[in-house]
Amino acid sequence: MSQHTRVLIIGSGPSGLTAAIYSARAQLSPIVIEGEPSSTTDQPGGQLMVTTEVENFPGFPDGIMGPELMANMRAQALRFGARMEVTKVQKLDLGQRPFRAWLTDDVEPSITADTVIIATGARSLMLDVPGEARLLSHGLSTCATCDGFFFRGHDIAVVGGGDSALEEAIFLTRFANTVTLVHRRDSLRASKIMQDRALANPKIRFAWNSQVTEVLGDEKVSGLALRDTLTGDSRVLDVTGVFIAIGHVPNTDIVAEHLERHDNGYIVTGPGSFTSVDGVFAAGDVQDHEYRQAITSAGSGCMAAIDAERWLEAQGM
Ligand code: NAP
Repeated sequence: MSQHTRVLIIGSGPSGLTAAIYSARAQLSPIVIEGEPSSTTDQPGGQLMVTTEVENFPGFPDGIMGPELMANMRAQALRFGARMEVTKVQKLDLGQRPFRAWLTDDVEPSITADTVIIATGARSLMLDVPGEARLLSHGLSTCATCDGFFFRGHDIAVVGGGDSALEEAIFLTRFANTVTLVHRRDSLRASKIMQDRALANPKIRFAWNSQVTEVLGDEKVSGLALRDTLTGDSRVLDVTGVFIAIGHVPNTDIVAEHLERHDNGYIVTGPGSFTSVDGVFAAGDVQDHEYRQAITSAGSGCMAAIDAERWLEAQGM
């Protein structure tokens, strides 16, 4: 038997949980499908679950740990009556109303919903080398804005050759002693203006034709094992911090066939959180390749809940 909900929220990062707080307070009894642990970059609570201290989320002058912030948001959503399910949506049908979601491989849908808020987030592409998963949040990060502050005076590395890598490297020179950009080729993919800025920055060094083969360190990052892609030679780069900036991918597998997306895969939204399907809204990193911050994600979750509430009202539902 399917259970019916007025608002189905898929995802439990800052956008999904903020949407849950708002729609629960609006008496819409949302169901939140939180996801389930599957890897370090894909789990309930989203990317903040693998962040240590969050110092830029307003309201916490002394900072707060990422997992604690998410636990607080979850408790706040529960307090107002949101229903949480630690599982994944296997299949979604947005082609008819009510919308239908399957949490198992049964023929019958598990949930039918008047509105759906997609808040499935994005994940950082990772190198997939030894040491990387273990040292995530222990000197290895995927977000310079979040973690750069902790590397004051350090010698660190940024891996990647695109605009993200250069932007992060330039930003990190505010804190770090030196930033070595580790790139697998001898020319950058980034835009000319970013290249010029990075090349002119005296704190930025370049490790060209260098492939990371291992992130070194027991409890904290102590270096990067590099292989020269031309000569095959191996060497160790002594760094105490590593930022992986080789791109992000939005988690859109379950909606790919239903919703309009940009060329880079992110869901097209606007006005507000409206998607190309009436009654379906998107919030957070799954539709934002520009800002990707906890606070912007939470803000867009709030927008999605308000948009869904008004949409239901306009439909007389
Ligand atoms: P990107 O342009 O796809 O660049 C990814 C970089 O990572 C490339 O240099 C790539 O190397 C490298 N890379 C990919 N997989 C790798 C692997 N397994 N091992 C080692 N290196 C790997 O991604 P992005 O920099 O995140 O940018 C995404 C989009 O956002 C771009 O369109 C970009 O212009 C835009 N953006 C713009 C700004 C800005 O204007 N300020 C800032 C950030 C992002 P190769 O070059 O060898 O392929």
